Amino acid sequence: MTIRIAVTGAAGRMGKSLVEASTTACGLTLGAAIERPGSALIKADSGEVAGVGKLDVAIVGNLVDVTDDFDVLIDFTTPESTLANIAICAKHNKAMVIGTTGFSDEQKAQFNSTIRNIPVCFASNFSTGVNLCFKLLDITAKTVGDESDIEIVETHHRYKVDAPSGTALSMGEVVANALGRDLQKVAAYGREGQEGPRSKDTIGFATLRGGDVVGDHTVTFLADGERIEITHKASSRMAFARGAVRAAHWISEQKAGLYDMKDVLGFVSK
Ligand code: NAD
Repeated sequence: MTIRIAVTGAAGRMGKSLVEASTTACGLTLGAAIERPGSALIKADSGEVAGVGKLDVAIVGNLVDVTDDFDVLIDFTTPESTLANIAICAKHNKAMVIGTTGFSDEQKAQFNSTIRNIPVCFASNFSTGVNLCFKLLDITAKTVGDESDIEIVETHHRYKVDAPSGTALSMGEVVANALGRDLQKVAAYGREGQEGPRSKDTIGFATLRGGDVVGDHTVTFLADGERIEITHKASSRMAFARGAVRAAHWISEQKAGLYDMKDVLGFVSK
């Protein structure tokens, strides 16, 4: 069966990669492309905007105008836009793949209360490699985490608006969960001045911003006498777009509920 996807934020960095990924994926077609109301690219051909040639799918300014044209919405936009799109998809019974990051605690609560009746795959990072790193982090934390100091460093392009990245936070959560720690209590977001010695359970985060870096993450486990570094470097947004398209296929066959990329890749331990 061919799945029809819609892409919100179709003229954004990820939106263009998603439109491109839809042209090479098997059993999947682009049914609709949406941008923010008022965008200069409304009515433009989404394929031409993405640089992959004409696809005969014009960009529209309102998701509600195209609800008959897709089965799964792929949304990499902003928290406000994503929350509005969840409400529309819930009303029209459409599955969603969500990659937007940077939700506040209040927005996360709203997110969780509105997705209940539709299938949603939400991940802070859709690359297969990063999800494999999550698995390696779980094993490493369980093996050496209690005898190590754990620090997470991430680098992204100069336009990224949220920090630390959603992926860095997810890595912190994987490590904290493996060690039975509450990330909210043990996270240290940057350090300055006379902070004193490092406390043992801390999970430290540091953020670099600049250039065109698509996304680098390193988690270091520093023990006495040795250290382990688990690093992932994304060199193209297609790594995320291909994962999101794979998730769109998978979510189209699931019951209502919240899933993540671990479920799509079959990494969930029972
Ligand atoms: P971007 O700013 O290049 O693109 C966002 C697009 O959304 C813009 O074109 C904007 O006009 C559009 N938009 C905003 N409001 C809208 C609305 N109401 N309706 C329709 N379109 C709307 O940003 P980006 O680099 O593409 O990143 C988008 C989001 O995806 C960010 O939150 C980023 O952190 C996240 N991201 C996630 C992953 C992942 O794997 N989960 C990977 C990369 C980026």
